[in-house]
Amino acid sequence: MPLPAPKAGPMVPSALAKRIPKIHLHCHLEGTLRPATFVELADKHGVPLRYRPPFDSAQGDTGRGQSFDCAHSARSAQDDTAYRFEGLQEFLYLFAAVSRSLRAPEDYARLAAEFVDDALAQGVIYGELFVSPSVWTFFNPTLDVRATMEAVVTELRRARPRAIFRLLPDLTRNFGEASATETARAMATMTDLDVVGVSLGGDEVRFPARLFVEPFAYARSQGLHCVAHAGEAGGAASVRDAVELLRAERIGHGIRALDDPSTIELLATRRIPLEICPTSNRLTGVALTGHPHPYADFDRLGCVVTIDSDDPALFETSITREYELVESIAGPAALERYVRNAIEATFAAPIEKQAMRTQLEEAVAELHERSSS
Ligand SMILES: [Zn+2]
Repeated sequence: MPLPAPKAGPMVPSALAKRIPKIHLHCHLEGTLRPATFVELADKHGVPLRYRPPFDSAQGDTGRGQSFDCAHSARSAQDDTAYRFEGLQEFLYLFAAVSRSLRAPEDYARLAAEFVDDALAQGVIYGELFVSPSVWTFFNPTLDVRATMEAVVTELRRARPRAIFRLLPDLTRNFGEASATETARAMATMTDLDVVGVSLGGDEVRFPARLFVEPFAYARSQGLHCVAHAGEAGGAASVRDAVELLRAERIGHGIRALDDPSTIELLATRRIPLEICPTSNRLTGVALTGHPHPYADFDRLGCVVTIDSDDPALFETSITREYELVESIAGPAALERYVRNAIEATFAAPIEKQAMRTQLEEAVAELHERSSS
């Protein structure tokens, strides 16, 4: 469906959103790649800025083994238009193009280093970030995954002690169960590289949760946490399956759960946090433009709402901007509650959570002092 341009609306002035400590619970590291860096890397590696499979196979749109059609050359593109797309399918192709531009561990190190700079500048204090190693190796079969993870983690650790970042590698639905199992096994050997769990993204309609019961059970058996995108393209049943079949501890998006009161009740009673990304939901058509975003509905219905930015660079947004949108519409008390929810929803150690609570309290108290003086 055609999408409005520019992707992001006017900036909304807000006091709390800028200063409140921020928590990334739904952020794809690859989706933070600065557009100028994307163009530069694509140019360096001679890959096009657009990815198009020659046909949209019923087996999936990942293009495994397929050839590519170049819609643009890197040299002719401008940084500010590199991330234009229309609709969810176009977005997935864009994500593929970004993945193709990252070809070596040093490219991922640069991605992570720039992410850290951008995150610290915004007051992010903690994050559990998605990475997609099976997408990396799909486009670059010779990539050394462990070396790449090491390169990423080395940069992420530079953020300490100001911020702590951990990883939730994605098992990626589109590659099927065998690939998911292989990725889960590989990631279970990388807990020394700050891997704390696994996630599940990709095409939830054609690759439903039931296909991934085994890899998730394996991940759990290795002490890894489990989270899953659901209720984005798929319906409420997809959310329920993510919780009941995969035992997902958090749900990415979950928007379509609103279609079914019993699924909402499941999320609310089990206190399964929802990672909601307002701008992403609008741009992919999951949340209707012109209507209030439904995060407030989830909140009212007793669900645990958290807010993040999904693929902030690709969506031309940021976690600060998402917080600002929420503050301007739902108010500062709601934003504060969602950040509090996010702290509790992390997989951080109790002592780390306590430190985050303290930082939140201090930031809120300082704002109250300023506003009353
Ligand atoms: Zn996502």
